[in-house]
Order: sequence, then structure tokens, then C-alpha cells
Amino acid sequence: MTERRLDPTTGEWTTFATARQDRTFLPPAGLCPLCPTTDPARPTEVPRDAYDIAVFENRWPALSGRPPEPDLDGTSLYSVEPACGAAEVLVFTSRHDATLADLPVAQVTKLVDVWAHRYAELGARPDVAYVFAFENKGEAIGVTLHHPHGQVYGYPDVPPRVAIEMRAAREHLARHGTCVWCDVVAAEEADGARLVLQGAAVSAYVPFAARYPYEVHLSVRRHVGSLLDLDATERRDLAEVLSTVLRAYDRLYGFSLPYVLSVHQRPTDGGDWDAISHLHLELTPLHRTATKLKYLAGSETGAGAFVADVRPEDAAGRLRQLLS
Ligand SMILES: [Zn+2]
Ligand SMILES: [Zn+2]
Ligand SMILES: [Zn+2]
Repeated sequence: MTERRLDPTTGEWTTFATARQDRTFLPPAGLCPLCPTTDPARPTEVPRDAYDIAVFENRWPALSGRPPEPDLDGTSLYSVEPACGAAEVLVFTSRHDATLADLPVAQVTKLVDVWAHRYAELGARPDVAYVFAFENKGEAIGVTLHHPHGQVYGYPDVPPRVAIEMRAAREHLARHGTCVWCDVVAAEEADGARLVLQGAAVSAYVPFAARYPYEVHLSVRRHVGSLLDLDATERRDLAEVLSTVLRAYDRLYGFSLPYVLSVHQRPTDGGDWDAISHLHLELTPLHRTATKLKYLAGSETGAGAFVADVRPEDAAGRLRQLLS
């Protein structure tokens, strides 16, 4: 069963993709479906004996360009629709045991280029309103394959978390006449207390009201809506700042730190987003200590209100110490 259902009590869609329960779960290295193909009789997901970066449609897609018909019909209370959109797998390197933090900056720059390419291609589709590139890293986050990879989803609407940001940005624009993200980057660079790293075009900082321990945002200083608006030098700077922060993450507790990486860009539904869309990356780790995870418990799950354990200024100071 693959379909989207609307919860009339919240106005939010849930995508069901129940076949995903059968997907490959943490296979041994010799059977990794993301490694290059060594035996043509038993091809992996990437039917090449070598590759640099690979993108392909997810074999167990939550969203697809040719979705099946929903299992049941909608009613006046309950809306149901086919799970239209896109779900792609993006393999960062052919090196099975590497992590994004291990890769040379030149390879991370290629990844930024591929994100931009997928944004352009999926965003041009009429059934895709929002292109979302992300990485789930580490078993604590629930990855099912260790080989370094991320995903790109093309949603048929603007997803809830992004819609919240857009609403806040629109209110800020109405009140101050400026882009809130432009104002935040400028304020963090001027203040410095939460700044982790200031690059030539991109700055990394712990958000003023960070929800997750050691959460870091990477924002382009210039007002740009998507990766397509960055020139080659800016893309390289974004890759360099990202690499540097990820390496600091791995020094935090002495192990490769699990996190979710989200790329937030301008929606692609043709709406009036230019003044309020500001490209940024969000890194959200879950470890509040080496052995303790931040669980989404009562306040977060039941009320949607985050209670945080780590002071953002302390998190930024610690990360600055770990930069080299
Ligand atoms: Zn592999
Ligand atoms: Zn801006
Ligand atoms: Zn965001």
C-alpha cells in the first residue's frame, strides 16, 4: 500500500509506503547494494564497476512519478491521494567505509553540484512542489545502509517544517521589510557567541533557539533561494564549511557522530517565494552526551515544544575548539 492521507485534525499529510518494511537492513559489506558492481551476474543498485557519485530512483519509493492507485477511496472527512512525487538515492562515493566527513572537499563540492542538479531537474516537474535533499547518518538515526549516501525527495506540496519557516519569514518581512535569514546570518557574524565558522560566502552557527544538542545551521551570507543561485566559488565554500563542521562533530565524543542533514531551498511550485526563501543547511545531531540521546519525549512529541539540554553558546564554543 502506497498512498498519502490527510489528517483533518492537523491539516498534515502522512505518506504510507508499507513495502518499505521489507527493504534491505544493514547488509554485510560484501552484499552492499550501493557498492560498485563486481560480478555482472549479481549487479548492485549501481550497475558499474566504478563510479564517482551515483543517483538513482529509490527501489522502495515513498513518493513516485508513477504511484499506484490508493487502497481506498477518500470521503468528505478523509482525503486520500496517490503518493505522487520523487524519491531518489544519492550515493556520495564508491568508498563503502567512508563518511561524508572523510571525503575530500572536492568530492563534497561535487555533491553540492549534484544536489543543485537534482533540485533543477525534479523542481521542473509539475508534480513536485518542493525538492528536499537530506542525509540520515548513523544507526541512532535509523539508517538501513552504512555506505555513505543521502536521499532526495520531491514532495507534491511544501512540507510542514518548511511551511512553518516560510510563515515566520513572511511575518518578518511584513514587520521589518527584510529576509529573516539574511538578518540572522548578519547578527550571528556580528555577535560571534554562537558562530562556529565564518567562510568566504557561508557561515556556520548554532541557532539562537536550537532545538537539538549541537544543532548547526549553514547559511549563505548572500540572499539566494537555492543552490542554483550559487557560483562555483560559493559552492566550494559551502562544501568546505560543511566538511569542517562535520569533522568537528566527529571529534565531539570521539566517534562518528550521527545526525540528520537537511537542505532547505525555495519551493518549486511557482509561488511567490523569492523574498523569503534563503538557502541553508541544517545539521541536527541527537547525542546530548557521548552515551545519551535526545529523545523526542512528552513535550516534543505530545506538544511539539522542544526542551533543550545544551546552551547554544556553549555548544558553539565547544565546536569552535574542535575545528582543527
Ligand atoms: Zn557499499
Ligand atoms: Zn535572505
Ligand atoms: Zn530550515
